[in-house]
Amino acid sequence: MKEFWRVSIIGSGYVGLVAGACLAKLGNKVTLVDIDEEKIKTINNGVYPIYEEGLNEILSQVEIEASSDYQRIVGSDMIFLCVGTPPSEGGSVSLEDITEAAKQVADTLKRGNDYCVIAVKSTVPPGTTEEIVIPILERSRKKAGNDFGVCMAPEFLREGKAVYDFMNPMRLIIGELDKRSGDMLLDLYHDFNVPILRTNLRTAEMIKLASNAFLAMKLSFINEIGNICKQLGIDTHEVAKGMAFDERIGGKFLNAGIGFGGSCLPKDIRMLIAGAQETGYAPRLLEEVSKLNEKQALKPVELLKKHISLKGASIGLLGLAFKPGTDDVRESRAIMIVRALLEEGATIKAYDSLAVENFKRLFPQIEYVSKEDVLNCDAILIITEWEEFNNLDYRGKIIIDGRGVLKAKEARIYEGVCW
Ligand code: NAD
Repeated sequence: MKEFWRVSIIGSGYVGLVAGACLAKLGNKVTLVDIDEEKIKTINNGVYPIYEEGLNEILSQVEIEASSDYQRIVGSDMIFLCVGTPPSEGGSVSLEDITEAAKQVADTLKRGNDYCVIAVKSTVPPGTTEEIVIPILERSRKKAGNDFGVCMAPEFLREGKAVYDFMNPMRLIIGELDKRSGDMLLDLYHDFNVPILRTNLRTAEMIKLASNAFLAMKLSFINEIGNICKQLGIDTHEVAKGMAFDERIGGKFLNAGIGFGGSCLPKDIRMLIAGAQETGYAPRLLEEVSKLNEKQALKPVELLKKHISLKGASIGLLGLAFKPGTDDVRESRAIMIVRALLEEGATIKAYDSLAVENFKRLFPQIEYVSKEDVLNCDAILIITEWEEFNNLDYRGKIIIDGRGVLKAKEARIYEGVCW
C-alpha cells in the first residue's frame, strides 16, 4: 500500500472537484486541471464554483493545486478524466471534451517516463475508452497496457450528497485494460470497505448507463402509475409506500411527481438509447421511459390551466434546482415549465435558495423574488422539494404541487400531479 498517490483530475466540475477534494482528504497529492480559467481562479481564491454539502469544509482542510496548464500533471501516478459529456443533437452525447482532454494528456505522456494510469470517470457510451480514448493516448507513441495503464471508473455520486457518496460508495466498479492499472486504482481506494467489481472497460461503461437507466425507469414507472392514480382519485404516495414493503421493490426512487432532471439521468438514458439504435436494436422500454419523463414535466401547467387563465396571470415558482441540495439546473423541470408558461403569456416570479444565479443565465427575463413574494402570485407551482417549502403558509392560495410537499395541502385549491 502506498502512503499517497499523485493524482491529477482533468475537469473540475461536480465530479472532478468533489473527487479531487475527497482524494486529497484521503491523503493523496491532488492537482486539478480545467480549461475554464475563471473556474481555476475562483478555486485558487478559495471560492468554489459549485455548491455541495461538506465540500467547502474539506477544501479548507486540504491543499490542492488548481491550474489550466496540463504540464502540471506530468509525473502523476493517476490521471482521472472527469470532463463533461453533454447531450448532443440526435440524443447521444458530445465526446468533444473527452477527446480534447485525452489529446492534452497524450502530450504530457510524451514527457513523463513512469507508468501512470489514465482513468475515465466521465459517463461515456460503451466502447469510448477503447475506441476513442486509448487510440488518442497512444499518439504519445507509448503503448496502453504496457507503458501506461487505462481504467474506466464510473462515478455514481448524487449531486447534493456528492461528498458523502464519494466517501461512502455503495460499490466500486473498476474497468481495467491491464491488471496493474486496476491494482493501482484499488490501492487508491483502499480505505473503502465495499463490494468491488473488476471488469473490462466497456462493461464498466455499461454498468454506469444501465444503473442510471434503471433508476430512470423506476421513476417513470411510478409516474405512470401516478398518472393512473390521479384519474382514479388515489394518492400515489400511499401506493408507493405500500409497494415499498416488498424488498424486491424497495422504496427508493418511487417518488411520483414531475419526473427526473439533472445532468445525468435524462442524458444517460438518451445515450443508451442512441447507442442501442446504432447497433440496429430498438430499445422500446427505454424510449418510453424517456418520453414519459418529458411529458411529465408539463403536467403542472396542464393542471394549472384547469383553474386559471394563464395569459397575463402571475405564476410563482417554488424551486428551480433539478433537485434539493444543489444549485444545478441542468435539465431541471423548471426549464420546460418556464418555457411553457412564457408561451402562454404568464408572468413568472421564481424562488430558489441556491439555484437562482444558474437559472438567471437561462432566463434573465423572469423575476427572482423571495419565497414570500412567490406566495403572492395568482397561482404557485412547486417544482423542487426543498425542505423549507414545508414551512410556508399556503392557506388561501392556488397550489399545483409537482413534488408532494405535505404542508401545501392546506391551500384553498390544491392539486398534486399524481395524487
Ligand atoms: P461539469 O460540466 O460540472 O464539469 C466538467 C468540467 O470539465 C468543466 O469545469 C469544464 O470546464 C471542464 N473541461 C471541459 N473540457 C476540458 C478539457 N479539455 N480539459 C480540462 N477540463 C475541461 O460536469 P460534471 O457534472 O462534473 O460531469 C462530468 C462527467 O461525470 C460527465 O460525463 C457526467 O455525466 C459524469 N457524472 C456526473 C455526475 C453528476 O452528478 N454531476 C455523476 C456521475 C457522473
